Amino acid sequence: MLYCSKCGREYSDEFLRCPICNEPLQLPYLKGEIERGKRVWERYLEFFPFPLSLRYSLGEGDTPLVYLPNLSKQLNVELYVKNETVNPTWSFKDRGTFTAINYAISSGYKYVGTVSTGNMGASVAAYTSHAGVKSFVLLSEDIPQEKLLPIGVYGAKMIKVRGDYGELYYRSIEIGKKLGIYFINSDNPYRVEGYKSISFEIAEELQPDYVVIPTSSGGLFSGIYKGFYELKKSNIIEDMPKLVCAQALGCSPIYTALKEERENIERFENPETIAKAIKNPYPPSGNRVLRILKEGHLCEAATDEEILKAQKELAQEGLFVQPASATSLAVVQKLVSENKIEEKSVVVLILTGAGIKTTTSYLPFSTLTCGLDNLSSCLIENL
Ligand SMILES: *Cc1c(COP(=O)(O)O)cnc(C)c1O
Repeated sequence: MLYCSKCGREYSDEFLRCPICNEPLQLPYLKGEIERGKRVWERYLEFFPFPLSLRYSLGEGDTPLVYLPNLSKQLNVELYVKNETVNPTWSFKDRGTFTAINYAISSGYKYVGTVSTGNMGASVAAYTSHAGVKSFVLLSEDIPQEKLLPIGVYGAKMIKVRGDYGELYYRSIEIGKKLGIYFINSDNPYRVEGYKSISFEIAEELQPDYVVIPTSSGGLFSGIYKGFYELKKSNIIEDMPKLVCAQALGCSPIYTALKEERENIERFENPETIAKAIKNPYPPSGNRVLRILKEGHLCEAATDEEILKAQKELAQEGLFVQPASATSLAVVQKLVSENKIEEKSVVVLILTGAGIKTTTSYLPFSTLTCGLDNLSSCLIENL
């Protein structure tokens, strides 16, 4: 059974959005107890009310939570990162792909699809190949060749679609329903369930004051919120952390709607940002994120310059992330300087995806060249 995240009406599982509100559907809020188990899926079994088989796992989740001493000192907060770049296809998407594919297979679907130009496509392609399920990845017509390889290598059927890319999300769900292809797009309810595992893992190690989430469609934000909410409801944690929706200023429909005190998001015209993985001008869960933010959470946006600077600073702590992921640090730097995050707060950044996928956008850096015969003096000069 699914519920509309806005009006609360109940729907059967074939629906993905409320036909009345056109808002995303979600599973009910659950209560449960933690069990013993090596994997997060085993420990929180009661929080996933549908069959989960580790047969379909590629080892996603249970990622490291890392303390950043230098940046903590600089910002006068306790700064941690949840390193999602170590997932099987190098982004947090794998957690949601694992849960959604379990749902699709246990419900008898023979085909799975998604709409993506990046991390989502790679994740769905990898998991469907591993599961032995045929998949379709719908792409925008102008996708650069270099982005095709990380999806195509797994053997998924890739289809470039002419026409409005934003519209493709809605059409894919509609057509998939007729053809028996289960589309596990960005905010599919069973995908969002998988993202709760991030909250569960963080709460096992820390009681954060703030959790900072790079946000595009709003699927990840909704999942992390639901995870902490269910922990609170189950009396496993005392307080919800404040969530921070981090956007790129060049494509910030949620941030803009909040600032203009609007009830609903509007399409962000002429989006332009280096943070490609969070460049959705009309996010399908944008209104849901807005509703959550009004419960007292925060939203901030950073410029490309700030994002690239943050990307470099994270790399200097040993973590090479995509520009989209570095948005989290850029936004925290802003909130700290505006005193919107208090000194000594415990802050967790979700490092959503690996930088190695997008090396072209990396800031220029300098290298030295010296001959083999003067290597010694070259090193001495730089000691
Ligand atoms: C998908 C993605 C996001 C945003 O997630 P949404 O669920 O679409 O809000 C952020 N960062 C990276 C690297 C991503 O791949």
